[in-house]
Amino acid sequence: MPYRRCGKSGLKLPAISLGLWHNFGHVDNFGVCRKMIHHAFDHGITHFDLANNYGPPPGSAEINFGKILETDLASYRDELVISTKAGYLMWPGPYGEWGSRKYLLASLDQSLQRMQIDYVDIFYSHRPDPDTPLEETMQALDQAVRSGKALYAGISNYDPDQAFEASQILRKLGTPCLIHQPKYSMFERRAEKGLLDVLDKEGIGCIAFSPLAQGLLTDKYLKGIPADSRAANPYGFLKRNQVTPAVIKKVKKLNDMALGRKQSLAQMAIAWLLKDERVTSVLIGSRTVEQLANSMGALDNLNCTAAELKKINEILK
Ligand code: NDP
Repeated sequence: MPYRRCGKSGLKLPAISLGLWHNFGHVDNFGVCRKMIHHAFDHGITHFDLANNYGPPPGSAEINFGKILETDLASYRDELVISTKAGYLMWPGPYGEWGSRKYLLASLDQSLQRMQIDYVDIFYSHRPDPDTPLEETMQALDQAVRSGKALYAGISNYDPDQAFEASQILRKLGTPCLIHQPKYSMFERRAEKGLLDVLDKEGIGCIAFSPLAQGLLTDKYLKGIPADSRAANPYGFLKRNQVTPAVIKKVKKLNDMALGRKQSLAQMAIAWLLKDERVTSVLIGSRTVEQLANSMGALDNLNCTAAELKKINEILK
């Protein structure tokens, strides 16, 4: 596993990290969750990404991860980078979402309790809050770090201007922004329109979420929607109507290209993101150990030639 420096910080992250948004909740098979965490860590994935609301039900991914940590990985705590986030709806009333100090710090305490740990490595503002002053949200991240409940501060889903402003505020507070977590894949390239430049200039790392476009950038939908796929799953965020003939036409061409590289499409999609050194880590999801192993196989061929990149752009047009 290659480890890449996260922006201009002292922290290195694995080129591939594992996220627990789907497939690690109480609705999922705990034995499989445990096997995936073991497989990941045994193969050099030191970074596990969570959020208060991951499940379903919300909070259950943190509870399950906490159990696995306690029974199997407690003695490896210093070898792990654990992140969590707050921003989306977690509890009723006016203090259960967005970016107030009240919500963020209460949520962090709840996350630590669910995972049964004293601190997380990274605490994120999960989304910008249009109504709370950015200063307040950033002060809450700074306080989380100063209190020792988080080692680093991060932001997610902030646009380039918001990210720049957040970075300036955090730097003044003495807690530089470690990392930004944007959605970024061959199918979602907004990060290329200014965000990656801001992160590079500010010395902030980038961890790309949903790198496989929730499974679209794999071979699984080439022959319809399998019953066990996210698009067919009632809890899934990928909807059946997103699996359109136009999308599948592109996926077919990309899949042929990947096969030509002796890779799966999932592997090519990950290699395509890691070609950019500004991308510190690619944050994958997995439902099975086989998928995880397959995605990690991307590391066997990260090389992307200029001709290949051009061809991919033509397919995506
Ligand atoms: P991906 O784009 O990697 O999609 C994961 C899904 O793709 C799997 O559940 C599986 O779908 C399919 N898959 C994975 N590997 C393979 C493979 N090798 N072959 C075939 N199919 C495969 O990422 P996610 O959307 O799951 O997001 C990853 C992480 O990013 C999350 O866990 C979370 O940590 C983070 N995230 C952050 C957000 C934010 O707002 N900050 C928002 C969303 C995600 P199937 O179940 O259909 O088999």
